[in-house]
Amino acid sequence: MAKMFVAGEFRDAKSGEVTEIRNPATGEVVDTVPKGNAEDVRDAVAAAAEAFGVWSRMSTTKRGELLQGAVRLVRENEKELSTTLTKEQGKPIRESFLEIRRFAHTLEHYAGMAKTLRGGYVNLDDGRYGFILKKPMGVVGAIVPWNFPVSLMGNKVGPALLAGNTMVIKPASSTPLTASRCVELIHRAGLPKGVINIVTGPGGVVGEEILQNPKIRKIGFTGETGTGKHVMEVAAKEIKRVTLELGGSDPMIVCDDADLDRAVSAASVGRFFNCGQACLAVKRLYLFDKIADTFMERLTAKVNKLRIGDGIKRETLLGPLHTKGQREEVEEMVADAVKRGAKVLTGRKRPQGPEFDKGFFLQPTLLADVDPDARMVVEECFGPALPILRVKNLDEAIEQANRSIFGLGSSVWTRDIDRAMRAAEQIEAGYTWVNSAQIIYDELPFGGVKQSGLGREHGNENNDYYTETKSIVVAIEKRSEVVGGE
Ligand code: NAD
Repeated sequence: MAKMFVAGEFRDAKSGEVTEIRNPATGEVVDTVPKGNAEDVRDAVAAAAEAFGVWSRMSTTKRGELLQGAVRLVRENEKELSTTLTKEQGKPIRESFLEIRRFAHTLEHYAGMAKTLRGGYVNLDDGRYGFILKKPMGVVGAIVPWNFPVSLMGNKVGPALLAGNTMVIKPASSTPLTASRCVELIHRAGLPKGVINIVTGPGGVVGEEILQNPKIRKIGFTGETGTGKHVMEVAAKEIKRVTLELGGSDPMIVCDDADLDRAVSAASVGRFFNCGQACLAVKRLYLFDKIADTFMERLTAKVNKLRIGDGIKRETLLGPLHTKGQREEVEEMVADAVKRGAKVLTGRKRPQGPEFDKGFFLQPTLLADVDPDARMVVEECFGPALPILRVKNLDEAIEQANRSIFGLGSSVWTRDIDRAMRAAEQIEAGYTWVNSAQIIYDELPFGGVKQSGLGREHGNENNDYYTETKSIVVAIEKRSEVVGGE
């Protein structure tokens, strides 16, 4: 039985209750975890508050060294971590390895900044000195979704710990196992007890206490836009800082002069990686009329080769959806698009056979000529189904791309630099990839505009979201003119 990790030790829930974690591919119980409640969170917050004194006073270099140690431990255990991740989340094992490596990379990226974190100095009038300090905030809460349970936790852990904050983490209720093990490994790198804590349990109970607890000064949240609005509302009562990484409906625009082979590959990976359950997945594909038929033909051929199956098998490229409800929602969105006249190019059905019976599998689905008002275009379609729309030119493509409440990622494919720059400037999104697959870099800030979020993760910018900026003015007593020879 898995445990939560609080104050440097494994713990059961105060209530003694547990939750079963099931494999989305087989329905089998992978493990059980404690069903924490508000009291468990309060204990974790108390431990984190106590640890703050020691941790925040430790030199940044030392904190960076300890984080480097954590990176080594994560890498040494990547096989075990990846296997657990596939079992609890459903993703293909090769994608689990990528996620664990991404997590280690993110921690390493922030650990490497230990020597370069800086504040500022300003020479003020009247001989006064101005200093700008970057101070840790205190106890920060991290709330993480189920689609990338480990890497999205890393985006918060890296900058939060480097800056000297202590943490209480809440993983998604259905994916607590790998995250808890990672927290244990980070602690084992030599962190004082209570610096990093993880409390497992329902969002409405454990998550809610993190939002409300007055000792928590900042919340790093990743999840749905609806939940994000609630986070902001509750956080407002105490003027807590929030970073919100929310839903997206990323447009991909393919112009008539694009390298079609590379674009086809990017569309396939972009939509079907993690079974389509990624915030920055390609969720709307806009094709110039001239290349639309050829593109759809090539994409269909590529997508038909995706091997569906239990993610634990090496050959699997497309695992199950994470939950029954998730699959039903995608099926409903596809049905809605078909009802409005969309043509099914491939997919739509549940794969048949004994190996698929107990899992939440769905064939990768491509839909052509989708109505711009269809649910899967307007809402966030979080699964393996891609709506394709034809456009006459770049202006129409940009106009359609911006017809969304979301603004997370986006991509444009063209060999014309003027077109590329126009799209990159005009698309309302936090990120635009030009002739590139939608891949995240720790080196660049990432986050949404409009209802896709608030604040940024990754990049140097992420450090600003885990520190308070404080100004100090020092007045030096006026000295008389320095006399020569003194
Ligand atoms: P979700 O909002 O349902 O849950 C996210 C987390 O919030 C979970 O840990 C959940 O337990 C917790 N939670 C739920 N109710 C809560 C409450 N009342 N108080 C506090 N916490 C609560 O999201 P999900 O379904 O797990 O994740 C999928 C969503 O996340 C998608 O919309 C996706 O686009 C988005 N996402 C965004 C990014 C990004 O960086 N922008 C990255 C990944 C996923």
